[in-house]
Amino acid sequence: MGLWSDALAHTTLYLGVHCHTLGLKTTTYLITHFSDFQLACLGSFFLHESVFFFSGLPFIYLERAGLLSKYKIQTKNNSPAAQEKCITRLLLYHFGVNLPVMIFSYPVFKFMGMRSSLPLPSWKIIFTQVLFYFILEDFVFYWGHRVLHTKWLYKHVHSVHHEYATPFGLTSEYAHPAEILFLGFATIVGPAITGPHLITLWLWMVLRVLETVEAHCGYHFPWSLSNFIPLYGGADFHDYHHRLLYTKSGNYSSTFTYMDWIFGTDKGYRKLKELKKAGVEESSSKEE
Ligand SMILES: [Zn+2]
Ligand SMILES: [Zn+2]
Repeated sequence: MGLWSDALAHTTLYLGVHCHTLGLKTTTYLITHFSDFQLACLGSFFLHESVFFFSGLPFIYLERAGLLSKYKIQTKNNSPAAQEKCITRLLLYHFGVNLPVMIFSYPVFKFMGMRSSLPLPSWKIIFTQVLFYFILEDFVFYWGHRVLHTKWLYKHVHSVHHEYATPFGLTSEYAHPAEILFLGFATIVGPAITGPHLITLWLWMVLRVLETVEAHCGYHFPWSLSNFIPLYGGADFHDYHHRLLYTKSGNYSSTFTYMDWIFGTDKGYRKLKELKKAGVEESSSKEE
C-alpha cells in the first residue's frame, strides 16, 4: 500500500514537473513570437478548430464505415448529405460568429486580468479555475438550455441543434447563431470573471470541446468517462436528450448529471435505465 502510494506520488510529481516545464517552454516560445492579441484571438481560434475537428471527424468515419457499431447508442445512421451539411454550416458559423466573438470579447478578457506573460500559474490554480468553470458552465447551461426548450425559443432557435436526433461528434456545435451566443456565454462567464492565464483558458477550451464532442458522439464505449466518473453525463446521457421530443427530453445539463437529478428533469432517462436493467426493451424514439 505504502509502495503504491509512494509510486503514485512520484509519478504525479514527475508528470507535474514535466508538464510545467513543457508548458513553460511552449509559453516562452509563443509569447516571444506572437502578440498577446494574436495568441488570445487567433491562437484560441486555431486551437479550437483543431481540437474540435480532430476529435469530431473520427465519429463520422465510424458511422459511415459501420465500425464499433455494437457500441453505437442508436441504430439509425446519418446520411453523408446530413453529415456534410453539418460541416459546411459549422465552418460558416465558426468564421462568421465564433471568430468575431473571440475578437470582440478580447478587451473584456484583458480588462478582467487575462494575461499570456510569465510566470505561469501553479497547477493548483489552473486545476481550481478549470473545475470552477466546469461547475459554473454546467449550472448556467442547464437553465439556459431549459429556457431554450420553451415553445417559442425552441421553434425559432433551439430546434436547429435538434435537427440531428441521432447526434455525432460534430453536431455538438451545430446550432442557431443566437444559441451560439446565448450558450457561449455559459462557456466564457467563468474565465471572464476570474481573468485567468491564457494557458488556463486554453486548457478549459480544449477540455470543454472534448467533453461536448464526446457527449454528442453517439457511442457509449466501455472506456467512456461516464463509466468511471460519478455524476458525469457523457454520450448516453445527452443522446437521450436528442432522440426524444423536445417537451419530453429532459437531461438539460452539459457536463454533470446532478442538476437534472435535483430538479427532477432526468426522470424519463432514469426510468428507461431501470427498464433496460430489468431487461425490458424500451424504445422511445421520435417516430413513436
Ligand atoms: Zn436541447
Ligand atoms: Zn446536444
